[in-house]
Amino acid sequence: MTFDTSLSCAQMLDQQDPLRAFQEEFLFPKHNGEKTIYFCGNSLGLQAKGVKAAINQVLGEWEDQGVESWFKGERPWLKVQERMQGPLAKVVGALSEEVIVMNTLTVNIHLLLGSFYRPTATRFKVLMEAGAFPSDQYAVAAQVSKLGFDPEEAIIEVQPRAGEELLHTEDILAAIQEAGESLALVMLGGINYYTGQFYDLAAITAASHSVGAYAGYDLAHAAGNVPLALHDWEVDFAVWCSYKYLNGGPGGPSGVFLHNRHGNDPNFPRLAGWWGYQENGRFLMRKEFVPSKGAAGLQISTPQMLAFAPHWVSLEVVQKAGVQQMFEKSKRLTGYLEFLLQQLNARGAALHIITPADPSARGSQLSIYFERDGKALFDCITENGVICDWREDNLSLSGGGVIRVAPVPLYNSYQEVYAFIDLIRQYLQIENFS
Ligand SMILES: *Cc1c(COP(=O)(O)O)cnc(C)c1O
Repeated sequence: MTFDTSLSCAQMLDQQDPLRAFQEEFLFPKHNGEKTIYFCGNSLGLQAKGVKAAINQVLGEWEDQGVESWFKGERPWLKVQERMQGPLAKVVGALSEEVIVMNTLTVNIHLLLGSFYRPTATRFKVLMEAGAFPSDQYAVAAQVSKLGFDPEEAIIEVQPRAGEELLHTEDILAAIQEAGESLALVMLGGINYYTGQFYDLAAITAASHSVGAYAGYDLAHAAGNVPLALHDWEVDFAVWCSYKYLNGGPGGPSGVFLHNRHGNDPNFPRLAGWWGYQENGRFLMRKEFVPSKGAAGLQISTPQMLAFAPHWVSLEVVQKAGVQQMFEKSKRLTGYLEFLLQQLNARGAALHIITPADPSARGSQLSIYFERDGKALFDCITENGVICDWREDNLSLSGGGVIRVAPVPLYNSYQEVYAFIDLIRQYLQIENFS
Protein backbone atom coordinates (compact mmCIF):
# COMPACT_ATOMS: atom_id res chain seq x y z
CA MET A 1 0.00 0.00 0.00
CA THR A 2 1.25 3.45 -0.80
CA PHE A 3 0.70 6.25 1.69
CA ASP A 4 -0.82 9.63 1.08
CA THR A 5 -1.22 12.73 3.24
CA SER A 6 -4.95 12.48 3.91
CA LEU A 7 -6.46 11.73 7.30
CA SER A 8 -8.57 9.06 5.63
CA CYS A 9 -5.38 7.23 4.69
CA ALA A 10 -4.45 7.05 8.40
CA GLN A 11 -7.96 5.87 9.25
CA MET A 12 -7.80 3.17 6.62
CA LEU A 13 -4.41 1.98 7.82
CA ASP A 14 -5.83 1.65 11.32
CA GLN A 15 -8.83 -0.28 10.04
CA GLN A 16 -6.54 -2.71 8.26
CA ASP A 17 -4.24 -3.09 11.26
CA PRO A 18 -4.56 -6.61 12.70
CA LEU A 19 -3.07 -5.38 16.00
CA ARG A 20 -5.28 -2.34 16.51
CA ALA A 21 -7.19 -3.94 19.42
CA PHE A 22 -3.98 -4.30 21.42
CA GLN A 23 -4.08 -0.63 22.33
CA GLU A 24 -6.87 -1.65 24.71
CA GLU A 25 -4.47 -3.83 26.67
CA PHE A 26 -2.42 -0.84 27.88
CA LEU A 27 -2.79 2.10 30.25
CA PHE A 28 -1.93 5.54 28.87
CA PRO A 29 -0.55 8.57 30.70
CA LYS A 30 -2.84 11.61 30.65
CA HIS A 31 -2.18 15.20 29.62
CA ASN A 32 -4.80 17.76 30.76
CA GLY A 33 -7.18 14.87 31.34
CA GLU A 34 -6.74 13.45 27.83
CA LYS A 35 -4.91 10.30 26.76
CA THR A 36 -1.44 11.23 25.53
CA ILE A 37 0.11 10.07 22.29
CA TYR A 38 2.92 7.97 23.70
CA PHE A 39 5.91 7.63 21.38
CA CYS A 40 8.39 6.82 24.13
CA GLY A 41 8.30 3.02 24.18
CA ASN A 42 12.02 3.14 23.39
CA SER A 43 12.59 4.57 26.87
CA LEU A 44 9.84 3.15 29.09
CA GLY A 45 7.16 0.96 27.56
CA LEU A 46 3.60 1.33 28.85
CA GLN A 47 1.91 -0.70 31.56
CA ALA A 48 -0.23 -3.58 30.38
CA LYS A 49 -3.60 -3.69 32.11
CA GLY A 50 -2.91 -7.16 33.49
CA VAL A 51 0.09 -6.02 35.53
CA LYS A 52 -1.72 -5.02 38.71
CA ALA A 53 -3.52 -8.35 38.92
CA ALA A 54 -0.25 -10.25 38.42
CA ILE A 55 1.50 -8.30 41.17
CA ASN A 56 -1.50 -8.81 43.43
CA GLN A 57 -1.38 -12.51 42.68
CA VAL A 58 2.23 -12.70 43.89
CA LEU A 59 1.32 -10.67 46.97
CA GLY A 60 -1.60 -13.01 47.61
CA GLU A 61 0.57 -16.12 47.25
CA TRP A 62 3.11 -14.63 49.63
CA GLU A 63 0.30 -13.83 52.04
CA ASP A 64 -1.40 -17.22 51.81
CA GLN A 65 1.50 -19.61 51.41
CA GLY A 66 4.63 -17.75 52.46
CA VAL A 67 7.79 -19.60 51.52
CA GLU A 68 5.80 -22.55 50.24
CA SER A 69 4.88 -20.45 47.20
CA TRP A 70 8.22 -21.45 45.71
CA PHE A 71 6.98 -25.02 45.39
CA LYS A 72 3.19 -24.91 45.73
CA GLY A 73 0.21 -23.75 43.77
CA GLU A 74 -0.66 -23.68 40.11
CA ARG A 75 2.46 -21.76 39.20
CA PRO A 76 5.19 -22.38 41.75
CA TRP A 77 7.64 -19.48 41.86
CA LEU A 78 10.49 -21.93 41.31
CA LYS A 79 9.24 -22.38 37.75
CA VAL A 80 9.10 -18.67 36.96
CA GLN A 81 11.76 -18.91 34.24
CA GLU A 82 9.72 -21.49 32.34
CA ARG A 83 7.05 -18.88 32.03
CA MET A 84 9.46 -16.34 30.53
CA GLN A 85 11.88 -18.39 28.44
CA GLY A 86 9.54 -19.61 25.70
CA PRO A 87 8.06 -16.25 24.71
CA LEU A 88 11.33 -14.39 25.21
CA ALA A 89 13.25 -16.86 23.04
CA LYS A 90 10.84 -16.09 20.20
CA VAL A 91 11.45 -12.37 20.61
CA VAL A 92 15.22 -12.66 20.20
CA GLY A 93 15.46 -15.70 17.92
CA ALA A 94 16.93 -18.17 20.38
CA LEU A 95 16.29 -21.60 21.82
CA SER A 96 14.35 -21.44 25.09
CA GLU A 97 17.28 -22.68 27.11
CA GLU A 98 19.52 -19.96 25.64
CA VAL A 99 17.64 -17.14 27.40
CA ILE A 100 17.18 -16.24 31.02
CA VAL A 101 15.75 -13.29 32.94
CA MET A 102 17.87 -11.98 35.79
CA ASN A 103 19.26 -8.86 37.50
CA THR A 104 19.24 -5.57 35.63
CA LEU A 105 20.92 -4.62 32.40
CA THR A 106 24.19 -2.95 33.36
CA VAL A 107 24.74 -5.56 36.05
CA ASN A 108 24.43 -8.22 33.36
CA ILE A 109 26.85 -6.35 31.09
CA HIS A 110 29.40 -6.65 33.88
CA LEU A 111 28.62 -10.32 34.47
CA LEU A 112 28.88 -11.26 30.82
CA LEU A 113 32.04 -9.21 30.38
CA GLY A 114 33.33 -11.15 33.37
CA SER A 115 32.80 -14.33 31.39
CA PHE A 116 33.77 -13.19 27.91
CA TYR A 117 36.43 -10.55 28.43
CA ARG A 118 39.45 -12.59 29.44
CA PRO A 119 42.30 -10.63 27.92
CA THR A 120 45.84 -11.85 27.36
CA ALA A 121 48.94 -9.70 26.83
CA THR A 122 48.36 -9.80 23.07
CA ARG A 123 44.57 -10.19 22.74
CA PHE A 124 42.98 -7.54 24.91
CA LYS A 125 41.04 -5.10 22.75
CA VAL A 126 37.30 -4.42 22.79
CA LEU A 127 35.57 -2.88 19.80
CA MET A 128 32.54 -0.65 20.40
CA GLU A 129 30.61 1.94 18.44
CA ALA A 130 31.49 5.57 19.13
CA GLY A 131 28.62 7.14 21.03
CA ALA A 132 27.52 3.90 22.69
CA PHE A 133 25.06 4.27 25.57
CA PRO A 134 27.07 5.74 28.48
CA SER A 135 26.49 2.83 30.86
CA ASP A 136 28.00 0.46 28.30
CA GLN A 137 31.02 2.71 27.86
CA TYR A 138 31.55 2.95 31.63
CA ALA A 139 31.14 -0.79 32.14
CA VAL A 140 33.60 -1.75 29.41
CA ALA A 141 36.16 0.85 30.52
CA ALA A 142 35.84 -0.34 34.13
CA GLN A 143 36.37 -3.99 33.19
CA VAL A 144 39.33 -3.16 31.00
CA SER A 145 40.96 -1.06 33.76
CA LYS A 146 40.24 -3.64 36.43
CA LEU A 147 42.21 -6.20 34.47
CA GLY A 148 45.18 -3.86 34.18
CA PHE A 149 44.74 -2.47 30.68
CA ASP A 150 44.48 1.12 29.58
CA PRO A 151 41.01 1.87 28.15
CA GLU A 152 42.56 4.43 25.79
CA GLU A 153 44.59 1.67 24.21
CA ALA A 154 42.26 -1.28 24.65
CA ILE A 155 38.93 0.19 23.51
CA ILE A 156 38.52 0.72 19.79
CA GLU A 157 35.63 3.03 18.90
CA VAL A 158 34.31 2.81 15.36
CA GLN A 159 33.45 6.36 14.23
CA PRO A 160 31.10 7.61 11.55
CA ARG A 161 32.86 9.00 8.49
CA ALA A 162 33.49 12.74 8.45
CA GLY A 163 30.24 14.66 8.09
CA GLU A 164 28.11 11.53 8.65
CA GLU A 165 26.12 10.27 11.63
CA LEU A 166 25.79 6.55 10.92
CA LEU A 167 28.28 3.72 10.70
CA HIS A 168 28.96 1.79 7.54
CA THR A 169 28.93 -1.97 8.04
CA GLU A 170 32.07 -2.21 5.91
CA ASP A 171 33.85 0.20 8.28
CA ILE A 172 32.92 -1.95 11.29
CA LEU A 173 34.10 -5.08 9.49
CA ALA A 174 37.33 -3.35 8.40
CA ALA A 175 38.01 -2.23 11.99
CA ILE A 176 37.55 -5.83 13.17
CA GLN A 177 39.96 -7.11 10.52
CA GLU A 178 42.46 -4.41 11.34
CA ALA A 179 42.40 -5.24 15.05
CA GLY A 180 42.79 -8.91 14.10
CA GLU A 181 44.41 -11.04 16.76
CA SER A 182 44.54 -8.18 19.24
CA LEU A 183 40.74 -8.22 19.41
CA ALA A 184 39.18 -10.05 22.36
CA LEU A 185 35.60 -8.90 22.08
CA VAL A 186 33.16 -6.92 19.96
CA MET A 187 30.50 -5.28 22.14
CA LEU A 188 28.00 -3.10 20.29
CA GLY A 189 24.56 -1.79 21.04
CA GLY A 190 22.41 -3.78 18.57
CA ILE A 191 20.48 -0.61 17.80
CA ASN A 192 22.22 2.60 18.73
CA TYR A 193 20.04 4.43 21.25
CA TYR A 194 20.76 7.83 19.72
CA THR A 195 20.69 7.34 15.96
CA GLY A 196 18.33 4.35 15.89
CA GLN A 197 20.73 2.51 13.56
CA PHE A 198 20.36 -1.28 13.64
CA TYR A 199 23.69 -2.88 12.91
CA ASP A 200 24.20 -5.93 10.74
CA LEU A 201 24.73 -8.31 13.63
CA ALA A 202 25.05 -11.42 11.46
CA ALA A 203 27.94 -9.96 9.47
CA ILE A 204 29.59 -8.40 12.51
CA THR A 205 29.39 -11.66 14.46
CA ALA A 206 30.92 -13.64 11.59
CA ALA A 207 33.73 -11.10 11.19
CA SER A 208 34.43 -11.18 14.95
CA HIS A 209 34.69 -14.95 14.94
CA SER A 210 36.94 -14.89 11.87
CA VAL A 211 39.62 -13.07 13.91
CA GLY A 212 39.03 -15.22 17.00
CA ALA A 213 37.07 -12.62 18.99
CA TYR A 214 33.74 -13.02 20.76
CA ALA A 215 30.68 -11.01 19.71
CA GLY A 216 28.25 -9.75 22.37
CA TYR A 217 25.52 -7.16 22.06
CA ASP A 218 23.49 -4.85 24.22
CA LEU A 219 20.03 -5.21 22.73
CA ALA A 220 18.24 -2.73 25.00
CA HIS A 221 16.86 -0.96 21.92
CA ALA A 222 16.50 -4.06 19.78
CA ALA A 223 14.70 -6.68 21.89
CA GLY A 224 11.01 -6.51 21.06
CA ASN A 225 11.70 -3.89 18.39
CA VAL A 226 13.27 -5.75 15.46
CA PRO A 227 13.51 -9.38 14.33
CA LEU A 228 16.60 -11.07 15.73
CA ALA A 229 18.12 -14.50 15.13
CA LEU A 230 20.74 -14.70 17.84
CA HIS A 231 21.07 -18.46 17.73
CA ASP A 232 21.46 -18.72 13.96
CA TRP A 233 23.81 -15.75 13.82
CA GLU A 234 25.94 -17.58 16.39
CA VAL A 235 26.11 -14.54 18.62
CA ASP A 236 28.08 -15.42 21.76
CA PHE A 237 25.97 -13.47 24.21
CA ALA A 238 23.47 -10.64 24.40
CA VAL A 239 21.84 -8.63 27.16
CA TRP A 240 18.85 -6.31 27.18
CA CYS A 241 16.40 -4.65 29.52
CA SER A 242 12.72 -5.50 29.72
CA TYR A 243 11.40 -2.00 30.28
CA LYS A 244 11.76 -0.45 26.82
CA TYR A 245 10.07 -2.26 23.93
CA LEU A 246 9.16 -5.20 26.16
CA ASN A 247 7.02 -3.15 28.58
CA GLY A 248 8.45 -4.94 31.60
CA GLY A 249 8.10 -2.00 34.02
CA PRO A 250 10.49 0.67 35.34
CA GLY A 251 13.83 -0.86 36.31
CA GLY A 252 12.39 -4.26 35.39
CA PRO A 253 14.60 -7.32 35.05
CA SER A 254 17.08 -7.84 32.25
CA GLY A 255 17.23 -10.64 29.69
CA VAL A 256 20.36 -12.55 28.75
CA PHE A 257 21.14 -14.73 25.76
CA LEU A 258 23.97 -17.23 26.00
CA HIS A 259 24.59 -19.37 22.94
CA ASN A 260 24.30 -23.08 23.64
CA ARG A 261 27.89 -23.76 22.65
CA HIS A 262 28.80 -21.82 25.81
CA GLY A 263 25.72 -22.64 27.86
CA ASN A 264 26.30 -26.39 27.52
CA ASP A 265 30.01 -26.14 28.24
CA PRO A 266 30.45 -27.17 31.90
CA ASN A 267 33.77 -25.31 31.99
CA PHE A 268 32.31 -22.05 30.79
CA PRO A 269 33.80 -19.40 33.11
CA ARG A 270 31.01 -17.80 35.04
CA LEU A 271 30.55 -15.69 38.14
CA ALA A 272 28.50 -18.30 39.89
CA GLY A 273 25.75 -18.05 42.48
CA TRP A 274 23.46 -20.63 44.02
CA TRP A 275 20.52 -19.96 41.70
CA GLY A 276 22.61 -21.14 38.75
CA TYR A 277 23.00 -24.56 40.36
CA GLN A 278 21.11 -27.42 38.72
CA GLU A 279 17.54 -27.08 39.88
CA ASN A 280 17.22 -30.58 41.30
CA GLY A 281 20.28 -30.15 43.50
CA ARG A 282 20.11 -26.47 44.38
CA PHE A 283 18.67 -27.01 47.81
CA LEU A 284 21.12 -29.75 48.77
CA MET A 285 23.56 -26.92 49.49
CA ARG A 286 26.60 -28.86 48.32
CA LYS A 287 30.05 -27.36 48.26
CA GLU A 288 31.07 -27.69 44.62
CA PHE A 289 29.06 -25.81 42.00
CA VAL A 290 27.19 -27.77 39.33
CA PRO A 291 25.71 -25.34 36.82
CA SER A 292 22.33 -25.68 35.18
CA LYS A 293 22.51 -26.25 31.45
CA GLY A 294 22.03 -23.27 29.19
CA ALA A 295 21.60 -19.66 30.18
CA ALA A 296 19.93 -20.79 33.43
CA GLY A 297 23.41 -21.56 34.73
CA LEU A 298 24.19 -17.85 34.68
CA GLN A 299 21.65 -17.08 37.38
CA ILE A 300 23.17 -15.85 40.59
CA SER A 301 20.35 -14.86 42.90
CA THR A 302 16.76 -15.64 43.74
CA PRO A 303 14.43 -14.18 41.10
CA GLN A 304 12.62 -11.02 42.25
CA MET A 305 9.08 -12.26 41.88
CA LEU A 306 7.39 -8.87 42.24
CA ALA A 307 9.63 -7.35 39.57
CA PHE A 308 9.15 -10.31 37.25
CA ALA A 309 5.35 -10.12 37.31
CA PRO A 310 4.95 -7.14 34.91
CA HIS A 311 7.39 -8.81 32.53
CA TRP A 312 5.55 -12.10 32.27
CA VAL A 313 2.33 -10.21 31.67
CA SER A 314 3.92 -8.15 28.91
CA LEU A 315 5.43 -11.27 27.33
CA GLU A 316 1.98 -12.83 27.27
CA VAL A 317 0.71 -9.78 25.37
CA VAL A 318 3.60 -10.06 22.90
CA GLN A 319 2.91 -13.73 22.46
CA LYS A 320 -0.76 -13.06 21.80
CA ALA A 321 0.10 -10.41 19.21
CA GLY A 322 2.78 -12.60 17.61
CA VAL A 323 6.31 -11.26 17.12
CA GLN A 324 6.15 -11.49 13.34
CA GLN A 325 2.96 -9.48 13.22
CA MET A 326 4.44 -6.95 15.64
CA PHE A 327 7.55 -6.37 13.56
CA GLU A 328 5.57 -6.11 10.35
CA LYS A 329 3.32 -3.43 11.77
CA SER A 330 6.32 -1.63 13.21
CA LYS A 331 7.93 -1.35 9.78
CA ARG A 332 4.79 0.01 8.25
CA LEU A 333 4.03 2.43 11.08
CA THR A 334 7.53 3.88 11.08
CA GLY A 335 7.53 3.95 7.29
CA TYR A 336 4.35 6.01 7.51
CA LEU A 337 5.92 8.41 10.00
CA GLU A 338 8.92 8.77 7.70
CA PHE A 339 6.67 9.38 4.71
CA LEU A 340 4.78 12.18 6.45
CA LEU A 341 8.02 13.80 7.67
CA GLN A 342 9.26 13.77 4.09
CA GLN A 343 6.01 15.41 3.00
CA LEU A 344 6.64 18.18 5.54
CA ASN A 345 10.16 18.53 4.20
CA ALA A 346 8.83 18.79 0.67
CA ARG A 347 6.91 21.81 1.99
CA GLY A 348 10.03 23.39 3.47
CA ALA A 349 10.23 21.88 6.99
CA ALA A 350 13.98 20.95 7.14
CA LEU A 351 13.52 18.06 9.58
CA HIS A 352 16.56 15.87 9.18
CA ILE A 353 16.07 12.16 9.91
CA ILE A 354 19.35 10.72 11.18
CA THR A 355 18.05 7.14 11.39
CA PRO A 356 18.75 4.96 8.34
CA ALA A 357 16.21 5.15 5.52
CA ASP A 358 16.65 1.41 4.92
CA PRO A 359 13.86 -0.27 6.95
CA SER A 360 16.08 -3.29 7.65
CA ALA A 361 18.67 -1.01 9.29
CA ARG A 362 16.35 0.46 11.90
CA GLY A 363 13.51 -0.36 14.26
CA SER A 364 10.55 1.78 15.23
CA GLN A 365 12.53 4.83 16.35
CA LEU A 366 13.29 7.79 14.12
CA SER A 367 15.78 10.35 15.46
CA ILE A 368 15.05 13.75 14.06
CA TYR A 369 16.99 16.92 14.24
CA PHE A 370 15.63 20.27 13.37
CA GLU A 371 18.23 22.87 12.49
CA ARG A 372 16.27 25.91 13.51
CA ASP A 373 15.67 25.03 17.16
CA GLY A 374 15.03 21.40 17.99
CA LYS A 375 14.37 21.99 21.68
CA ALA A 376 11.65 24.58 21.03
CA LEU A 377 9.92 22.21 18.63
CA PHE A 378 10.22 19.41 21.19
CA ASP A 379 8.70 21.63 23.91
CA CYS A 380 5.76 22.46 21.66
CA ILE A 381 5.18 18.77 20.94
CA THR A 382 5.23 17.98 24.67
CA GLU A 383 2.89 20.83 25.57
CA ASN A 384 0.40 19.38 23.11
CA GLY A 385 0.20 15.98 24.74
CA VAL A 386 2.67 13.94 22.71
CA ILE A 387 5.35 12.14 24.72
CA CYS A 388 8.61 11.51 22.88
CA ASP A 389 12.07 12.46 24.06
CA TRP A 390 14.89 14.88 23.62
CA ARG A 391 18.55 13.89 23.68
CA GLU A 392 21.27 16.50 23.76
CA ASP A 393 23.61 16.42 20.82
CA ASN A 394 26.46 13.94 20.89
CA LEU A 395 27.28 14.09 17.19
CA SER A 396 28.09 17.82 16.86
CA LEU A 397 24.91 18.49 14.96
CA SER A 398 23.43 21.89 14.56
CA GLY A 399 20.01 22.23 16.16
CA GLY A 400 21.22 21.22 19.62
CA GLY A 401 20.11 17.60 19.78
CA VAL A 402 17.63 15.06 18.53
CA ILE A 403 13.97 14.33 19.07
CA ARG A 404 13.54 10.57 19.31
CA VAL A 405 10.13 9.36 18.19
CA ALA A 406 9.20 5.71 18.54
CA PRO A 407 5.72 4.68 17.42
CA VAL A 408 5.41 1.10 18.62
CA PRO A 409 3.17 -1.56 17.14
CA LEU A 410 1.39 -2.79 20.27
CA TYR A 411 -0.16 0.48 21.40
CA ASN A 412 0.34 3.16 18.74
CA SER A 413 -1.88 3.88 15.76
CA TYR A 414 -1.51 5.45 12.34
CA GLN A 415 -3.91 8.20 13.36
CA GLU A 416 -1.63 9.08 16.26
CA VAL A 417 1.26 9.42 13.83
CA TYR A 418 -0.95 11.62 11.70
CA ALA A 419 -1.90 13.82 14.66
CA PHE A 420 1.76 14.18 15.63
CA ILE A 421 2.72 15.30 12.14
CA ASP A 422 -0.23 17.67 12.03
CA LEU A 423 1.05 19.27 15.22
CA ILE A 424 4.47 19.86 13.69
CA ARG A 425 2.83 21.14 10.52
CA GLN A 426 0.94 23.77 12.50
CA TYR A 427 4.01 24.71 14.53
CA LEU A 428 5.97 25.28 11.32
CA GLN A 429 3.04 27.14 9.79
CA ILE A 430 2.93 24.86 6.81
CA GLU A 431 -0.34 24.95 4.94
CA ASN A 432 -2.81 22.13 5.30
CA PHE A 433 -1.93 18.85 3.55
CA SER A 434 -5.20 18.01 1.94
C1 LIG B 1 18.52 1.69 28.47
C2 LIG B 1 19.90 1.23 28.30
C3 LIG B 1 20.70 0.89 29.41
C4 LIG B 1 20.19 1.04 30.81
O1 LIG B 1 20.77 0.12 31.66
P1 LIG B 1 20.14 -0.16 33.12
O2 LIG B 1 21.19 -0.96 33.76
O3 LIG B 1 18.84 -0.88 32.92
O4 LIG B 1 19.92 1.16 33.80
C5 LIG B 1 21.98 0.40 29.16
N1 LIG B 1 22.45 0.28 27.90
C6 LIG B 1 21.71 0.61 26.82
C7 LIG B 1 22.26 0.46 25.43
C8 LIG B 1 20.43 1.11 26.98
O5 LIG B 1 19.71 1.49 25.93
